[in-house]
Amino acid sequence: MTREQKIAKAKRLREQGLTYQQIAERLNVSSNGVVSRWLNPERAKEADRRSNAKRNDYKRQWDRDNRAECPRCGGAMCAGSRSPSHCPDRCWECLRDEADARIRRFIALRREGLLNPEIAEREGTTVPAVAMTLSNARRQGYDVPPSPYGPAAARDAA
Ligand SMILES: [Zn+2]
Repeated sequence: MTREQKIAKAKRLREQGLTYQQIAERLNVSSNGVVSRWLNPERAKEADRRSNAKRNDYKRQWDRDNRAECPRCGGAMCAGSRSPSHCPDRCWECLRDEADARIRRFIALRREGLLNPEIAEREGTTVPAVAMTLSNARRQGYDVPPSPYGPAAARDAA
């Protein structure tokens, strides 16, 4: 018997006055809950929706209570930090701090007159990364000394 046939039969049995439990036994299905779903698909859907909503609430609360701790500052990590594949190793605040500290180091080196390849080597990164970090920093309002390759530097050298 296909599922559809079982549902049709369940309906007939219900019309004959059988209980869900009796129908479940007749059709050899595991529980009267299954029969109830067959006979009341709309109600079942609504119940699913409610229980999903409840589960999402629990999940949000669980996230708040069980958020991983930042190993640097001990603060709460961002959402999703329990998933190893998406796991940043710092909270957002620390990541921001570290990015800021990095920018300040780059700027200090630039101020000493170091060229991008020299900064890259000191910081163990690549030349394009240095160039991009400094140019982003300038856009963010950091006081970045002009590039030694730029027109200002050429003027100074002249
Ligand atoms: Zn932190």
